[in-house]
Amino acid sequence: MNAVVFDEGSIRLVEVPIPEPLPGEVLIRTLLTGICRTDRELFEGYYGFRGVPGHEFVGRVERAPGRKEIEGSRVVADINIGCGECSWCRADVPKHCLSRRAVGIQGWDGAFAQYLKVPEANVHLVEAGIRDEEAVFAEPLAAALDVSQQVHIRSSDRVLVMGDGKLGLLIALCLRTLTPHLVLLGRHSEKLETARKQGIEVFNVSTPQDDPSAPSPPGSFDVVVEATGSDLGIQEALAFLRPRGTLVLKTTSRVPSSVNSARIVVDEIKIAGSRCGDLRLALSYLKRRLLDVTPLIDGIYPSAEFETAFRHAFGPGGKKILLRWS
Ligand SMILES: [Zn+2]
Ligand SMILES: [Zn+2]
Repeated sequence: MNAVVFDEGSIRLVEVPIPEPLPGEVLIRTLLTGICRTDRELFEGYYGFRGVPGHEFVGRVERAPGRKEIEGSRVVADINIGCGECSWCRADVPKHCLSRRAVGIQGWDGAFAQYLKVPEANVHLVEAGIRDEEAVFAEPLAAALDVSQQVHIRSSDRVLVMGDGKLGLLIALCLRTLTPHLVLLGRHSEKLETARKQGIEVFNVSTPQDDPSAPSPPGSFDVVVEATGSDLGIQEALAFLRPRGTLVLKTTSRVPSSVNSARIVVDEIKIAGSRCGDLRLALSYLKRRLLDVTPLIDGIYPSAEFETAFRHAFGPGGKKILLRWS
């Protein structure tokens, strides 16, 4: 089969054997794979990953030795694969298992390939009403929705989402189902427009300070979600929070952030980190059409045009790029 590998600064299509599913695993034929910021970090050598990347995907079950009834079904899959035995795994939170692997990120071949295998337990069926172009967002959408699982957002809460990248947009589209008082702050008018068209109040920091749509006054938000992707975001986020407000951090910056911790102490700010989320919840949002993810797609390339696709995806300011495998 064909698979994409990152190899010392180059992206190559290679011929590798189709994975053989062990008992308890399923073989999936890939339909669509999303290219993510994390893939760029893998490409740049961030995690020392070797193998086939790709963790955002929808596919069709080719073989499921232990679960024949799902063969032929469309599926998405949780990317975290725990040991199955520790307290985190027994509590169904494998993302914190100390010996976890992650599909396409750490110790497990991913979905920039015609086929991949995953543990049977990681697979979630995609219902007929959800298109492939929507289902491929299940993993990043789950990560966006995880904000609402880490922090209780009340309908009266004023919420600010900082960052109009793919994740920031998804977070804003999710959280506006929980509170009408939501503002998305970013610096790219085209991306902000994508959110505004779905009824989200937006603020562009690139516009002059006297803009009447400014999300002011600073220090007035109950919850600020920092998804700027920048190490400076956390310090900016603190300025928007009211005393005893909650800061949710989504940015994983390679550069350590420096922060005025006195502000956190004096204003008694609560801080929550948030990573991967629940794919079942993401699929239910897609099924019930609580948001439209398709305006976030910038391009869909056939897998043969992988080089153009990755160049597009790793370039500045783009939205979601998808690779079609079959
Ligand atoms: Zn991702
Ligand atoms: Zn474990």
